[in-house]
Amino acid sequence: MKRFAQYLAVLAKTNALGKQVDWLFYPGMLQESRAKWWDDFAWRPKAHEGVDICFYRQGQEKITPLAKDTRVPAMDKGLILNRCEDFLGESLVITHGKIDDDFPRVVLVYSHLEIDKTLVPGNWVEKGEIIARLFDTGKKQSKLLSHLHLSCIELMDKIPLEDLNWKLFPDRKKINLINPVFL
Ligand SMILES: [Zn+2]
Repeated sequence: MKRFAQYLAVLAKTNALGKQVDWLFYPGMLQESRAKWWDDFAWRPKAHEGVDICFYRQGQEKITPLAKDTRVPAMDKGLILNRCEDFLGESLVITHGKIDDDFPRVVLVYSHLEIDKTLVPGNWVEKGEIIARLFDTGKKQSKLLSHLHLSCIELMDKIPLEDLNWKLFPDRKKINLINPVFL
């Protein structure tokens, strides 16, 4: 819980959102929710595999979505294991933990991003380093607002790094989801 709260504070600071920022989450933005928080507010095709970060409020001001070019910092020091496409933009797969026998146990997936070409697997990132900007969903005529999706994934087995992607992440037989909110 502490790491997630600290991360939100860093996200606010990095993007100069203000001093008294509250973050707001609709139920559909939370892990395992079947609800959509956009468009027709109907149902997702499958339960949400992470948490969506989008809405905040500065003091008493009105609720605002993150701007489409919001800068995304790394939660901790970590090693980039893969970058892959997601249904909006790109995802960055980073392990912030120990790597035993070249096998990461837990990875953090930052999704719906525009990532600089120079950030490639094998690169280390520092805590708070800007790793991407949010994907501009207007480019795909998506009804979704630009937002940061975070998934925390426990790997059950040794998996080739290039297979750490959105074919694998929804497969509950091969991975365990950890709720990022409780990090
Ligand atoms: Zn999401």
